[in-house]
Amino acid sequence: MSDVVLSGVVKRYGRVTALAGADVSVPSGQLTAVLGPSGCGKTTLLRCLAGFERIDGGEIRIDGDRVAGGGRHVPTHRRNIAVVPQEGALFPHLSVADNVGYGLDRAARRSDRVEQVLALVGLAGYGARMPHQLSGGQQQRVAVARALAPRPSVVLLDEPFSALDAGLRAGLRQDVREALRADGATGVLVTHDQGEALSVADKVVVLRDGRVVQAAAPTTVYREPVDPWVAGFVGDAVLLPAVVEQGAARTALGVVPVAGPVTDGPVTVLVRPEQVRFTAGPGAVTATVLRHDFHGHDALVGLRLADGTRITARILDGAAPLSPGGEVSVQVDGAARAFPRDTAVGLPASTVVELAA
Ligand code: ADP
Ligand code: MG
Repeated sequence: MSDVVLSGVVKRYGRVTALAGADVSVPSGQLTAVLGPSGCGKTTLLRCLAGFERIDGGEIRIDGDRVAGGGRHVPTHRRNIAVVPQEGALFPHLSVADNVGYGLDRAARRSDRVEQVLALVGLAGYGARMPHQLSGGQQQRVAVARALAPRPSVVLLDEPFSALDAGLRAGLRQDVREALRADGATGVLVTHDQGEALSVADKVVVLRDGRVVQAAAPTTVYREPVDPWVAGFVGDAVLLPAVVEQGAARTALGVVPVAGPVTDGPVTVLVRPEQVRFTAGPGAVTATVLRHDFHGHDALVGLRLADGTRITARILDGAAPLSPGGEVSVQVDGAARAFPRDTAVGLPASTVVELAA
């Protein structure tokens, strides 16, 4: 069990600053996800941790020992770190057992460690197979078993499931998460997939432009994002201009209580689509249905509010479709988060964010 701390880590590639003073702490025995859009510095962070790159500023400590920074650069093989790459990690000419035992000394190879880690990843009895006799998902399981086998201080996983189809990915990531936990390993998982980060990690570190913008438990990052950008990156977000008076925000969705301390004045509020309720109670506002997208487990309903603002609501009972053009009554359930008005810039384009027209 180890903990890893990066303090003010800077990494430049020529004129590109990939890490601009990143502060990350990885608690021992837990899985920490580093989440951010493409190009934000996730792979660079892992490469610096692994010792594949020399850092240009700050420092990295593993179990309190400085492995990088202040003129020190401990080479990869002396950091006791294992890396699980995206795909193609196995030696094609070696059996599964030989792949897993590759980094072990002779005593460890003769022990039952190989069979033990194969069992952890759900591949007990597969030792004699060759990699080409396995599916893509099974090959990634072997790669994880090989990383765990020598009991490294830290296991680094760089988007290890991104080459697999969605159906396989969800089951595999939970199994890998369980394997790491059962082995007491400390893990760092890099991903651009917010669903993956929120569902498997104990802690989520949100990276943007080489800097950490938020580091917290998955529920905190989702419910209490530090700014509208994080709100939109980690989930679907309805962001509305509002004016706060005495702890409540006046919005196009009615008057909504605001969570946390907030000063009166203009703000941008965050409401999650699942907070929009179809109800005709006091305080509800009228909206026009634009579309109803059925997704099986839920449905997304596009709505236009009286002032023209378009929003999305998520409803669990998606069985009875709402007809486009129809009028409904809606209200926000629970409290909204409020952000200073000027922070609603630079939102990621990939999210279902519907801003006021
Ligand atoms: P991510 O993994 O989050 O997609 P990377 O860490 O790969 O991001 O890249 C961060 C930034 O550094 C990007 O702007 C990328 O183009 C740049 N970069 C990464 N590796 C190199 C390299 N070897 N040489 C030059 N620029 C690089
Ligand atoms: Mg990357």
